[in-house]
Amino acid sequence: MPSSPAASNSVFRNLPSVDEMLRTSIGRQVLAATGENYAVVIIRGVIADLRREIGQDTACEHSKMHLRKLAETGLHDVWRSEQSTGIYHVINATGVVIHTNLGRAPLSENARRAIAGAFGYCTLEYDRETGKRGKRGLRAESLLAELTGAEGVLIVNNCAAAAFFVLTVFASGGEVVISRGEMVEIGGDFRVPDVLAQSGATLREVGTTNRTKPDDYKNAIGKNTRVILRVHPSNYRIVGFTATPSLSELAVLAHDSGVMLYEDIGSGAIIDLENVGLPDEPLVSRSIEAGVDVVTFSGDKLLGGPQAGIIAGKTVFIERLRKHPLYRALRVDKIVYAALESTLESYRRDSALAEIPVLRMLSTKKAEIEKRAAMLVKALREKPGVETSEFRFELVDGFSAVGGGAAPTASLETKLIAISHKDLSASQIEKALRLSNTPVITRITNDRVIIDLRTVAENEDADLVAIISHLFGQNSS
Ligand SMILES: *Cc1c(COP(=O)(O)O)cnc(C)c1O
Repeated sequence: MPSSPAASNSVFRNLPSVDEMLRTSIGRQVLAATGENYAVVIIRGVIADLRREIGQDTACEHSKMHLRKLAETGLHDVWRSEQSTGIYHVINATGVVIHTNLGRAPLSENARRAIAGAFGYCTLEYDRETGKRGKRGLRAESLLAELTGAEGVLIVNNCAAAAFFVLTVFASGGEVVISRGEMVEIGGDFRVPDVLAQSGATLREVGTTNRTKPDDYKNAIGKNTRVILRVHPSNYRIVGFTATPSLSELAVLAHDSGVMLYEDIGSGAIIDLENVGLPDEPLVSRSIEAGVDVVTFSGDKLLGGPQAGIIAGKTVFIERLRKHPLYRALRVDKIVYAALESTLESYRRDSALAEIPVLRMLSTKKAEIEKRAAMLVKALREKPGVETSEFRFELVDGFSAVGGGAAPTASLETKLIAISHKDLSASQIEKALRLSNTPVITRITNDRVIIDLRTVAENEDADLVAIISHLFGQNSS
């Protein structure tokens, strides 16, 4: 239907001005956060969008009030979507302990304090005894050496960088022998063959997917072979009719042939995690003991510290890496060292299970989670509004996950809170929680929103009650 220009012109006159929008509550909020220049830009955008919309819809009545409401809603949406790209604290109610999308390991209280202390000037490369330049990373490296039994340690940006670095320095232009059972992909963007190709080494696959024998390695070693690579398959298990040489067998074989043995164990445990329910996680110290020349692992998986790639091994190899120009490009900053040092100190004083959140969460018993879940549900039911609403809160049995590509077969029993509502769909509830001021990340199973308190810090239980009742309480009261 052709629109009358006069009519839509008068409708356009009802659009709010930029100044008017800057005085609304959302306008003031945007102004305070971004400053005037940017606030004006996004408000103009919102008004222009609105103008386009009503241009196609002149049949409707558009009062000044109505248009301002629409513009405010539009500004709200634009602002929220812009903010959703930043980094914010979330409550992880997924039950996945090492959640790569949610920042992997949450840091310990000590690590948080250490970071705060390193924010400003700090002793990153300064020796207080001599008043001269000190060695960067010395304390974190010595603690790691002590805890793993390695002669030397070097710390880089992450485990992928560590693997790339080791292979580039020691295998570039030569051959790397690896079992077909270990040509794995870890978490989508770390694929062993790709890292190898990037490092300039040639891949020499041996054995079969399920079985590789010492002779398979032995027969593959030639004058161009530089490295035997062992990769911990992390998020993947081959079970049944399987065989693979032990690390010490491989070490003997490698050293008899004058090649290096390098193991990428990915997560890598510093202490035995059998008591935590992870009997199969390889210990870094066991790899060192077995005679690997170099082993690499992540700082923010089972270790429970900041993102980092740790290279541990024999002095000759570690020192060659330290002197290599690539190290300068891969090294970490003061914040990482500070967090790593204090995380490792928890291990040294034997309080890792109590102090390091990843290990504490993994070792939490189902009964304890159930108790918290019951208390939380009780608190929710007592909240005015929630109590009388159409919500259902049920406690159901389930499993948490280690995540981070570690221990894919571990089964961590837990008690879940399942939330459903008479009128709201599970995805509406899930979305509202995800978009709340402190986002709560949940999952949906069988049309119910699932909360697993294993990954929620105990001091966040009260926050959870407040968030849920704030979101859904008033609606129904
Ligand atoms: C996770 C993992 C990596 C990658 O580690 P990042 O620290 O994420 O770079 C590499 N190798 C193995 C075996 C892993 O499990």
